[in-house]
Amino acid sequence: MNKIEIDRQSGCCFGVAKAISKAEEELKKGGTLYCLGDIVHNNIEVERLEKMGLITINHEQFKQLKNVRVLLRAHGEPPSTYEIARENNIEIIDASCPVVLGLQKRINKKYTHRAQDDAQIVIFGKRGHAEVNGLLGQTDEKAIIIENKEEINKLDFTRDISLFSQTTKPLDGFQEIGDIIASRMQGDAKFEFYDTICRQVSNRVPNMQQFAASKDLIIFIAGEKSSNGKVLFAECKKVNPNSYLIHSPEEIDPGWIKENIRIGICGATSTPMWQMEAVAENIMKLQPSMQLEKAAF
Ligand code: SF4
Repeated sequence: MNKIEIDRQSGCCFGVAKAISKAEEELKKGGTLYCLGDIVHNNIEVERLEKMGLITINHEQFKQLKNVRVLLRAHGEPPSTYEIARENNIEIIDASCPVVLGLQKRINKKYTHRAQDDAQIVIFGKRGHAEVNGLLGQTDEKAIIIENKEEINKLDFTRDISLFSQTTKPLDGFQEIGDIIASRMQGDAKFEFYDTICRQVSNRVPNMQQFAASKDLIIFIAGEKSSNGKVLFAECKKVNPNSYLIHSPEEIDPGWIKENIRIGICGATSTPMWQMEAVAENIMKLQPSMQLEKAAF
């Protein structure tokens, strides 16, 4: 009984899938297309699109461009990026995820209509992450970023606090941070908790754990820079210690492939389905008796 199953609920979330198809669609039109930052935290997919003509640039290079087309990836951008585009006659192909755009609007509204100038807008997220930079830009860079529980100490609990989260943070960690802040508020200061975590990531956890627990071996494929890949892989590992994280379909260790084994293949929200299928094909080359079966859920 040598079986492989691909977790069909793994793979690109709709935000990333939309950005990739937008890039493919624009590349088919011909001409030069730039992308501000890696389109997805998955080197192999970036390389595939670069072979089709996509040119990845950073923010410094972006400032030097004029009269070109630039695609904005799913993470979203701060208002300064749109201003530079206007000044330099850059045509923006905006593939920002609608969920991220919605969060940017909420933060911007909270910042613009805050009751007092010293009210604190707090974002639970990774400092320097592209999505967080886009969110920070909605507050003239005034929002306070906290990455962990320890950083809660830098908040002033005598002043209002509105707490938001980067979309891909784990739900339980965010809830814990919200509970700690709520318990430390003083006087009349108000605390508002906005659950802005994207369910495209958090909803995957229970299903992925159920999938991982039903297999003898889990091979999880994700790009090295994928934050949610690390989070989701850790969830698989919790329920199935025989889980391995790989960054390309070629990284399979033949020693993992034993007889009478049920293998599950999972990926991050930035892992295209074709990469999980390539992992399955490589396993079948190593063990020809292996059968690929359809996902049960
Ligand atoms: S994880 Fe959610 S917010 Fe982030 S790109 Fe995907 S759909 Fe959009």
